[in-house]
Amino acid sequence: MHNLVIRNSTIVDGTGAPAVVGDVAVDDGRITEVGRVDGRGERELDGDGLLLTPGWVDIHTHYDGQVTWDPQVSPSSWHGVTTVVMGNCGVGFAPVRPDGKDFLIELMEGVEDIPGTALHEGIDWQWESFVDYLDALDRMPRAIDVAAQVPHAALRAYVMGERAHDEATAADIAEMAALTAQAMAAGAVGFTTSRTILHRSKHGLVPGTSAPPDELLAIGSAVGTGVFQMVSDHAGTDEERAWLTALARESGATVTYALAQVGWAPLAYREALDEASLLSAEGLRVIPQVSVRPTGMLFGLQSSLHPFITHPSYRAVADLPLHERVAALQKPAARAALLAEEPATNNAIALGLMSRWDQIFPLGDPPDYEPAPSTSVAAVAARLGLTPQEVVLGWLLEREGKALLFAPLASYVDGDHEAIREMLDHPRTVVGLSDGGAHCGLICDASFPTYLLTHWARDRARGERLPLEQAVHLQTGRTAAAYGFGDRGTIGVGKRADLNLIDFAGLRLHAPEMVHDLPAGGRRLVQEVDGYRATLVAGVVTRQNGEATGELPGRLVRRAQPADGERR
Ligand SMILES: [Zn+2]
Repeated sequence: MHNLVIRNSTIVDGTGAPAVVGDVAVDDGRITEVGRVDGRGERELDGDGLLLTPGWVDIHTHYDGQVTWDPQVSPSSWHGVTTVVMGNCGVGFAPVRPDGKDFLIELMEGVEDIPGTALHEGIDWQWESFVDYLDALDRMPRAIDVAAQVPHAALRAYVMGERAHDEATAADIAEMAALTAQAMAAGAVGFTTSRTILHRSKHGLVPGTSAPPDELLAIGSAVGTGVFQMVSDHAGTDEERAWLTALARESGATVTYALAQVGWAPLAYREALDEASLLSAEGLRVIPQVSVRPTGMLFGLQSSLHPFITHPSYRAVADLPLHERVAALQKPAARAALLAEEPATNNAIALGLMSRWDQIFPLGDPPDYEPAPSTSVAAVAARLGLTPQEVVLGWLLEREGKALLFAPLASYVDGDHEAIREMLDHPRTVVGLSDGGAHCGLICDASFPTYLLTHWARDRARGERLPLEQAVHLQTGRTAAAYGFGDRGTIGVGKRADLNLIDFAGLRLHAPEMVHDLPAGGRRLVQEVDGYRATLVAGVVTRQNGEATGELPGRLVRRAQPADGERR
């Protein structure tokens, strides 16, 4: 008698191998048989007509605070994610000194747009060192597994205090490296840093943004064969390449960095892909991390940004409840005033983002993340003989003011997903950048794993799709391997029974919506989904037909320690 048997599903095992119809048996949280299972299960699930895949492993999230108050780790768990990696992009909440908490919250609020009030209210701070943080995570059961990385900014603030934004001394660097080594030995899965001027808080750039190679190499050597993750403006420059390659070579670390197609160098991503292949041939693990759709902002009356947000007439009604605001904005006089005004801000970045009329599209419901250029604000305005502002205002007021507009920031230079397809299809990339738990007022990409299936393996109409087996592999076997999670990411005997049973034809993303369910009433964008029939973590059904079962088998994943004699 098995604990559980899933019968007759179409098994897509996460390795990229062709789908097969068969049974899977589970005992003590692990997969014990795949194929034809003769023995009965104490519990049996009928998989007839359904896909069975490994649980999704999402390696790029920012749930560092949320996991201490939300055992469901939503919305990622709604989307079949069974393991998340947190602490990305250099920001997080450990290590922390008793007087350093506000600073880390302000950083997270500034960089990742998670409401500071929610973090203040939600986090219980049962830790000071990173090792304590791991233990605190370990004590709290949750629906999914979580793994944590050491964030550079928190480490700098801990070691350097007030000097966190300054150049580190040799002693500072030695201490940061020692603390990183300690955290890695206790089970941290990596170290992360931000090297982009786009990431800032009210304190300026993220501490460590311009850290020189000696600091990065010293900390990198403490990472050993773990992961060194970064987001950088300089990826691809000779200087950055030199230390990054040295780091991968000397430590054996897996280096992963955010890669997207950018407007000022639309083909640079191909050089990065070629470089990753060359380094791989040398045995180095330098893995560009890519997204499954353009990273983009969602403009709406409830969002952090939309084209009228600084207009004086809008400011006058901005604090009204949504339905009153919509009613006020629909009055002809208010409309006329709004359309006659200019944005009242000198922030050049915000101004630029709010007026790229050829890069703003209606998102719609079901949401369309690969909109045709002919549907942009600019194109529609030209066609109708209206101003872009008239078109945008009309769209923002749709769905009782809840309509969202999609404003891609990267990887939409050509107006389609072809650049993304090249990146996804490359053997040396890994999917990430969902930023689950972050950018609450403007982005909701925790649904990336679902989108890989709905869009890339099923619905894409404006170009080639990906085979289903490849799409599943990208979010399971591939992501798990990038972090050395050898016990998950594929369906095979001995692997953890982290599984998704999916009605593939019925899998459907809803339009994102703003909810106010964070601690202290904080707001965030979430996105619902239909079609996940069951999600299992360690053999326990955690969700069924879109509802949490209340079971909490998820734990902290500690990095497996290298055996003696292996490279550390
Ligand atoms: Zn991030």
